[in-house]
Amino acid sequence: MLQCTKCGRKYPLEKHQQRCPLCNEPLEVVAQRGKIREGKRVWDRFRDFYSYMNLDMKYSLGEGDTPLILSESLSQEFKAEIYFKNETVNPTWSFKDRGTFVALNRALSLGFDKIGVVSTGNMAASVAAYGARAGVKTFVLLSSTVSQEKISQIGIYGAKMFLIDGDYGALYFESLKIGERLGIYFMNSDDPFRIEGYKSIALEIGEIDYVIIPTSSGGLLRGIMKGFLEMKESGLIDRLPVPIAAQASGCAPICRAFREGGDVRRMENPATIAHAIENPYPPSGNAALRLLRRYDGRCVALDDEDIIRARRKLAKEGIFVQPASATAPAALEKLKDLKGKRIALILTGSGLKTKGIEYISQIPICKIENIEGCMGEI
Ligand SMILES: *Cc1c(COP(=O)(O)O)cnc(C)c1O
Ligand SMILES: [Zn+2]
Repeated sequence: MLQCTKCGRKYPLEKHQQRCPLCNEPLEVVAQRGKIREGKRVWDRFRDFYSYMNLDMKYSLGEGDTPLILSESLSQEFKAEIYFKNETVNPTWSFKDRGTFVALNRALSLGFDKIGVVSTGNMAASVAAYGARAGVKTFVLLSSTVSQEKISQIGIYGAKMFLIDGDYGALYFESLKIGERLGIYFMNSDDPFRIEGYKSIALEIGEIDYVIIPTSSGGLLRGIMKGFLEMKESGLIDRLPVPIAAQASGCAPICRAFREGGDVRRMENPATIAHAIENPYPPSGNAALRLLRRYDGRCVALDDEDIIRARRKLAKEGIFVQPASATAPAALEKLKDLKGKRIALILTGSGLKTKGIEYISQIPICKIENIEGCMGEI
């Protein structure tokens, strides 16, 4: 079954549905329980937690099973046990691959032969890669502020790209309508099966006191907490970690709502160097807020200077992350009571950028009112 993250209403798993028609809040797969099984891959060891669907390894690019590394210097500095969950080593260099793999399996099981995504870059690269692997047509709607470096990666996988001129927050909802009309499965940031993929991060970590999560749309936070909750309900861990959302000060709609109360509101004029977490109107914002409030979580907003400093600090330990990911180590400085705690920092994506302008001139610029027309023959 699928279940609304707000009202709890249930919907059949067989039907393609991503949000609750009553609340307009994201759906999720009902909580699973299980044991740890034998197997090399996370998808094998934790197959009980995905027993409602078939994960075909033919479409896998080797996502997940990333290293959990003790940070000697941060542990010393904060007198705690601090681990890096290094997601930069995923096939397209961000954790998005875990979610894309599961969502792609979902799309194919429902008979879709076209997939799509709305993204500022990392998720688009991931969907383009897995779409290529599966041989399905892939459509990527990019905000017109996307960097040329990211476009070179998406381009080589062969996805059809569209730079969308218009409100990025509205684009998300627009994509779901277009998907319905054109038979494209949009596996956006809050897709229930993308969230299922992210839950594997928690399954790999196990018991911990705090988990610090760079947060934009809120999907990653939802997935990680779902994983910990299912482990606890299955008796695999004794307690849940305290969830800590890390946002950039220049775009922190979830932290603002957490502080002021109420639902998430659109952030005007977002501005940060951490572009991967620059969603001004996060589709899973309220769902993430519910988790932070229910599990005594925190939300920390970091300035660009904090982010730049933390990024250099990580590089000194041999890890090169995107500015978005550096919000996790930067958040440590803002927290109290870390002494003696076991803490996992989710290092969400790699800092490696490739130069590439070879595709930019070929991408049509579309008006948000006329994306379909602009997409032409698909
Ligand atoms: C997508 C992304 C995030 C945030 O994930 P959400 O699910 O949108 O909250 C954080 N860091 C990086 C590098 C990302 O690509
Ligand atoms: Zn609902």
